[in-house]
Amino acid sequence: MKLHMWGTRGSLPRALTHQTFVQIVDNYAKKAEKAGMTSISEFRNALRDGDLGHPLVYGGNTSCNEIIHKNHRFFVDMGTGFAEASGQVMAQGRTEFTIFMTHMHWDHIMGLPFFVPLYIPGNKLVIYHVHAQAPEHIKIQFNGVNFPVKWDELGASVEFRHVKLYEKLHFDDIVVSPFALDHPGGSFGWRFDADGYAIAIGVDGEYKRLTPEALGKDHPYYKNLDLLVFDGQYEMDELASRYDWGHCSPPIGVDLAIREGIRNIIFTHHDPRAGEAKEERMLEQATRHAQKQLRFYKDVWATLHQETGPNIMLAYDGMEFDMDKLIPRNQLGHITKT
Ligand SMILES: [Zn+2]
Ligand SMILES: [Zn+2]
Repeated sequence: MKLHMWGTRGSLPRALTHQTFVQIVDNYAKKAEKAGMTSISEFRNALRDGDLGHPLVYGGNTSCNEIIHKNHRFFVDMGTGFAEASGQVMAQGRTEFTIFMTHMHWDHIMGLPFFVPLYIPGNKLVIYHVHAQAPEHIKIQFNGVNFPVKWDELGASVEFRHVKLYEKLHFDDIVVSPFALDHPGGSFGWRFDADGYAIAIGVDGEYKRLTPEALGKDHPYYKNLDLLVFDGQYEMDELASRYDWGHCSPPIGVDLAIREGIRNIIFTHHDPRAGEAKEERMLEQATRHAQKQLRFYKDVWATLHQETGPNIMLAYDGMEFDMDKLIPRNQLGHITKT
């Protein structure tokens, strides 16, 4: 099972302005100078090979993730990253698309009108949703006013399937199930279990409920998780002034991952105003926080044979995470220390 992240910005796509571009190039030119590079070709090679950092920018497009397992490919959300996926899915000759919706805020649906396969007769989109009103709230974009094409003029057929909270859907050997997140108007995470691996998409979520008791029926969705995609929009210092905005901060995700033994955590839904320096500072803060908190859960991480705690990552557009490179949980017990 693999995750491909098509859109990792939250709320609004982030355009690279002239000024931002100059800042970014300047930043990497300084790093190159420090590293003792003296020629443009060295600099170019270093940029391309990731010697000055990877990624160089943190996106980009709004929320869209793809879970890939054997012949199945599932999208979660239809932000502008979904439009970005058009080229690849058409090159692959795909005609059927399965999408799971977390919620219908603009940044999660605004890519649909620009998803090219939507206009090709014979194509089929199946959209799974927990919100009862989702079909109406997605179709509203195609009213002929906000977008020139009307819903009944689309080439592809679009089918909506309502899913109950915690209902388990089966696609061959994959189990997919929605759980509840704390977000204005309600948002639903999706967990994918296959081949002994589990990924959960926990975006958009404020995580006001964190203890096992407060999480209640949602708590099992964080158990035996190999990868959690978490809402890391704000720095901890910003959270208090953004109470009820529906987003969270990396150190809170770190706390959850350390307590539950979640082996990998990716922070996404980056604030549209956050530049690379801020994102990297947030990653450092999260990593430092993990180092401090880990000592309280040493036994959890010893059992997982991952004494350094969860792998903490920042999402970027185009990021991939291949679960098959991890040792399956059911084989962890067989690992002997060398
Ligand atoms: Zn969002
Ligand atoms: Zn939202």
